[in-house]
Amino acid sequence: SSDRETRGFQAEVSRLLHLMIHSLYSNREIFLRELVSNASDACDKLRFAALDHPEWLEEDPEPAIDLAVDADAGTLTISDNGIGMNREEVVENLGTIARSGTEKFLASLTGDQKKDAQLIGQFGVGFYSAFIVADKVTVESRRAGESAEQGVRWESDGQGEFSVETLTVPRRGTRITLHLRDDAKDFVDTGKLRGIVRQYSDHVAFPIRMAVPAGDEKAGDEKEEGATELETLNSATALWQRPRQEISDDEYKSFYRHVSHDFQDPLTWSHNRVEGNLEYTSLLYVPPRAPFDLYHREASRGLKLYVQRVFIMDDAEQFLPLYLRFIKGVVDAPGLPLNVSRELLQDYGPVRKIRAALTKRVLQMLRKLSGDQDAYDTFWQQFGQVLKEGIGEDGDNREAIAGLLRFASSTSPTPGSVGLDDYIERAGEENKRIYYLLGDSLSAARNSPHLEVFRKKGVEVLLLAERVDEWMMGFLTEYKGRTLVNAARGELDMPGDDTDEAEQPKQDAPVLGRLGEVLNEQVEAVRATARLVESPACLVLGADELGPQMRMMLEAAGQ
Ligand code: ADP
Ligand code: MG
Repeated sequence: SSDRETRGFQAEVSRLLHLMIHSLYSNREIFLRELVSNASDACDKLRFAALDHPEWLEEDPEPAIDLAVDADAGTLTISDNGIGMNREEVVENLGTIARSGTEKFLASLTGDQKKDAQLIGQFGVGFYSAFIVADKVTVESRRAGESAEQGVRWESDGQGEFSVETLTVPRRGTRITLHLRDDAKDFVDTGKLRGIVRQYSDHVAFPIRMAVPAGDEKAGDEKEEGATELETLNSATALWQRPRQEISDDEYKSFYRHVSHDFQDPLTWSHNRVEGNLEYTSLLYVPPRAPFDLYHREASRGLKLYVQRVFIMDDAEQFLPLYLRFIKGVVDAPGLPLNVSRELLQDYGPVRKIRAALTKRVLQMLRKLSGDQDAYDTFWQQFGQVLKEGIGEDGDNREAIAGLLRFASSTSPTPGSVGLDDYIERAGEENKRIYYLLGDSLSAARNSPHLEVFRKKGVEVLLLAERVDEWMMGFLTEYKGRTLVNAARGELDMPGDDTDEAEQPKQDAPVLGRLGEVLNEQVEAVRATARLVESPACLVLGADELGPQMRMMLEAAGQ
């Protein structure tokens, strides 16, 4: 039509397209998951918008996603009757604006095809994956509530430009036609598509349908030439609403891939329905690896929130504390108002209660996971540092979190190999304290003269060398009735000390006075000690003094 215009992609988008086409070849089929996921998002958005505009649903009330192939033309079409886009939205979403994820995605590419493919969904660059299999993509869309004449067509060959023009679109929603590349023509095969949908998109909550030849092919019925019928390819149920006993592990795993855009299986999950006056259902997963932006302040986090199966929002962050931001999943709280906003969630009594309960739920799930050594090692490597934040942030659950921590120790040098319960069990009743030592690195801690006396007495010392450790230990002063003691501080009060009179050092030796004079202002006191066996001297922190890591952190913060 006359208002057709051509525009250039933003520079990053072009680069992304190029990379995607050339580096994601071995995982080509993910394009379908991404486009179906967008169609599903669009149906969710429509259902939500229809709460205020029920008339938008009237003519076409059942959201659905349809696949259609044309083998002769070599095209695959994915259409939905979801929220749709108008011209401005198409331009904004599919071209000119580099989505915030795009640049980070480019920066994070590893060159390893498998890993890079896994990153795609996480960065919100899903739509462009269409160009992995298509050398031309046509998008036709009409926004819900707008007229047929306000429809739009977007088209691109992925080479740096796209066109947009106004188009009469008879139906609400979006239709994406992929003109398949020569080497991707196999995606017109309905059997192949059926398999991909089952693998990646089974738990999309709307029916995914495909036009197939009418009649049962296997039975070889007589059928009208060209007649087709719609086959529903996925289960199309809200998985979390089904009873636990009826859901297989494979179904749970595939739902995880759906909510997380991950390729791998989750480490574990927990699915619960809570009844009573605060009713809700939750399905929470522990991912097998940390997202690229675990430590970015603005990173998206939180659960998918549904109210009575109506999707309300992604990244509802009010349902879990910050230190559990890596958890993925769904919460469905039928008691919340459908028009609930982020602001309302912020300090809404029922939400606070659900959050407290989900926090406990996650800690229990992790506790259970710790019974599986390999899985827990993976968890600890990926998320241990984040979990430590909870020691300071969540006083109510401090002991439960502390039980999940893992350390290296003087007797067990592998990082992450010792829990506080292991320590207590080995220490037995004789040593009622839990000793730990902070260092700039594990090897520095391991070689510290402070350990000499502990080695001599056969007392285990936890070794801590991560940035957050000193901050964390400021909050962790007790565990299961035992005091945690910094091995580098003041008096140690070791087991057997009182019986060992002969070993008590003399505090009046003349050399002490002499050292005190020489060091003068640099130390508070010079004392003889029983804590050294081989080294002649060491620096000890006063009982209430800031440690070196804390001091550096505060100095860095300008304090
Ligand atoms: P993401 O889904 O992570 O936002 P995508 O690249 O997959 O990123 O999609 C970009 C945007 O394009 C979406 O956020 C959405 O606004 C829009 N979009 C894509 N597909 C559709 C669709 N089928 N219906 C409506 N909007 C869509
Ligand atoms: Mg998407």
